[in-house]
Amino acid sequence: MNKTQNQTVLISGAGVAGPALAYWLHRHGFTPTIVERAPHLRDGGYAVDFRGEALDVLDRMGLLQHIEALDTQMGDAAMVDADGRPYATLPAAIFAGDLEVLKGDLTRLLYEATRENTEYLFGDSIAGLHQDENGVHVTFEHAAPRRFDLVVGADGLHSRTRALAFGPEEQYVRHLGIYTAIFNLDNYLALKNTGHLYAAPGKAANIFTARDNTEARAAFHFAADHLEYDHRDTAAHKQIIADRFAGEGWEVPRLLKKMDAAQEFFFDSNAQVEMESWSAGRVVLLGDAGYCSGPTSGRGTSQALIGAYLLAGELAAREGDHTAAFAAYEQQMRPYVAEHQALGREGAERFFLPAPTQQVLDMLAANAPENTRTKPVHLPDYTPATAA
Ligand SMILES: Cc1cc2nc3c(=O)[nH]c(=O)nc-3n(C[C@H](O)[C@H](O)[C@H](O)COP(=O)(O)OP(=O)(O)OC[C@H]3O[C@@H](n4cnc5c(N)ncnc54)[C@H](O)[C@@H]3O)c2cc1C
Repeated sequence: MNKTQNQTVLISGAGVAGPALAYWLHRHGFTPTIVERAPHLRDGGYAVDFRGEALDVLDRMGLLQHIEALDTQMGDAAMVDADGRPYATLPAAIFAGDLEVLKGDLTRLLYEATRENTEYLFGDSIAGLHQDENGVHVTFEHAAPRRFDLVVGADGLHSRTRALAFGPEEQYVRHLGIYTAIFNLDNYLALKNTGHLYAAPGKAANIFTARDNTEARAAFHFAADHLEYDHRDTAAHKQIIADRFAGEGWEVPRLLKKMDAAQEFFFDSNAQVEMESWSAGRVVLLGDAGYCSGPTSGRGTSQALIGAYLLAGELAAREGDHTAAFAAYEQQMRPYVAEHQALGREGAERFFLPAPTQQVLDMLAANAPENTRTKPVHLPDYTPATAA
């Protein structure tokens, strides 16, 4: 295979898509480098699930068994009223997918599977990109400038790579009308493989167990149009939640106190990314950076894994011809992403509907496999140059 032109690939972002791509690029004989803004891997995080062909990709990576061992084993959850009284059971089939793991566990597993063959630059970020015919000159916030043959933006919803190569975020990010905060806490309610969910008009809060019931994750969600705030100011994010949930019942006052003390805290809008093209010359986008379908689709991790598999495979199959490979990757992913984005929008519209009855929940659970099935995406059998 002649890949001499496009051998070195810089990937921005060590979430799900970035390390998965590095894994496949190495297997196909390329040389990946990952730059990650966070100083180290993030341990906490919410639970993410996998569906359909994403399990196949994990299997081809030799990681399926490891992921299965990390399954949250989440059972049915309880819908509770303002006094904490359960009024309905939320079947796990509705929210836990085919397999569910903590995102931090997934990220660590992907990192462990790639660290030997991938150069990782933690605590840094791309600062500037300048393309010419033969490569990309990259400047970093901290490291010295370097040249790479190709650059992949796998840096999530607020992608720096996308901003640098395609233009400002406002052109591409579409807010779905929901804001979400998630944080780590102790399992102080002594729940066992379950969760409690509380819903008020335009608001919801919940707590779920994590890591064999030794920990918990709590979330606050509220409906709002676009809010202006500093994306890096955690104290401001916590204040937004405290203001929105002041005076609510159930465990909310206690959860707000726990949130105040939480070290691992996430806050963001639920949004989608819509772009006419995912590549610009030698720069291409992968995962949420290029086509986020929103948390309400439940498909983001699957998209990230499948996108990584296809992008690396097409680069290998086309002997490093990035123009042809990027086009083939995009052509295969587009219909799959379009379906998930439709699911994400529908999920967002339903998110704050009044508390459902048990009959409705049972019907949703019974139909879950049909309701959540999307058209299969074909995974070509690219033959890797090296063994797993
Ligand atoms: C609350 C919530 C619940 C979710 N639940 C599910 C679910 O159940 N099922 C599911 O499939 N998906 C779910 N998702 C979506 C899923 O988490 C994402 O779709 C998936 O993580 C996308 O992977 P990614 O690698 O593209 O981006 P990310 O996982 O966001 O990774 C991006 C990485 O880039 C890094 N980065 C950012 N900026 C820079 C920069 N300038 N330089 C270098 N690095 C940078 C970030 O630190 C991060 O490590 C959920 C998302 C949220 C927010």
